[in-house]
Amino acid sequence: AKADGKGQWALFDPVRNANEVAQFRLSAKMPAALERGEFYVDYQPLVGLRDFGVVGVEALVRWAHPELGRLGPDKFIALAEETGLIVQLGRWVLREACRQARKWQDDFGAAAPFISVNLAVRQSRDPNLVAHVAEILEETGLEPSRLQLELTESAIMGTADEPLDALRALSRMGVRIAIDDFGTGYSNLAYLRHLPVHELKIAGSFMEGLRDAECADPVDARIVGTLVDLAHALGLTVTAEGVETHAQARRMAEIGCETGQGYLFARPCTPEDIRDFIASRLD
Ligand code: C2E
Ligand code: CA
Ligand code: CA
Repeated sequence: AKADGKGQWALFDPVRNANEVAQFRLSAKMPAALERGEFYVDYQPLVGLRDFGVVGVEALVRWAHPELGRLGPDKFIALAEETGLIVQLGRWVLREACRQARKWQDDFGAAAPFISVNLAVRQSRDPNLVAHVAEILEETGLEPSRLQLELTESAIMGTADEPLDALRALSRMGVRIAIDDFGTGYSNLAYLRHLPVHELKIAGSFMEGLRDAECADPVDARIVGTLVDLAHALGLTVTAEGVETHAQARRMAEIGCETGQGYLFARPCTPEDIRDFIASRLD
């Protein structure tokens, strides 16, 4: 509490306080919600920019909250990171996503997409990560090459060596590693060549300047072109995130970007929708 100079005491900001209480209540409810099966996963395709086939599918977690309705990850992932529940929640998402991907593997064989799962910073530092991934692959029968793990730059370029050792071990198992939201964090580009990374996902914010073909922002276009060239020089594949217009898809294809993800192709949807989407692009 602090005197505000007029002899009154400002105990707290009621709006900020109400928000903090709401956040606290939400995070307190998460463990039971996980037990009760209130979380579920939506899937969004990563589409080849040349033939429009489904190369991969990203798993995106949601919470079907009994009172608040469907909550997106922006409402609860940061909370789960704070409490540490992200480790259990993330493991649940990984298992669920791998189970689903195993079905696509059975249905589509060699044409089956890989499943791409987001890893929180806390998970990348979990000493049990490699063992858990191995266990889930074993249990679900998903081929390691059909799993991709997405980490942000800050998760990968941390100071400690342990997360990198874990990524190297996963890479040796055949699991793909992607850098998520590339270009938004602090990237040490030279460092990239020493990392066990297979794919760069260019952040959707770079797509803004490429929205319309006629008035593409030349700086954005140059940046994106340079990122793609850099990735290719390092032997990585590139996915453009947040592709919403044909102009963006066309420009990214011209630049040599392999895959695109975004509302132009599909919104995050159910596994059944993904199955139909894959099938529709096979013939
Ligand atoms: P992200 O990994 O960058 O995932 C892509 C986000 O962009 C998703 O939001 C997706 O719905 C949205 N998106 C896809 N296409 C478009 C488009 O064309 N335009 C625009 N404006 N947006 C598009 P979502 O599902 O709300 O997820 C938000 C973030 O939450 C994700 O960003 C990811 O960082 C995190 N997240 C989601 N699932 C998980 C998870 O299982 N574990 C962890 N640790 N984080 C997750
Ligand atoms: Ca992601
Ligand atoms: Ca992303």
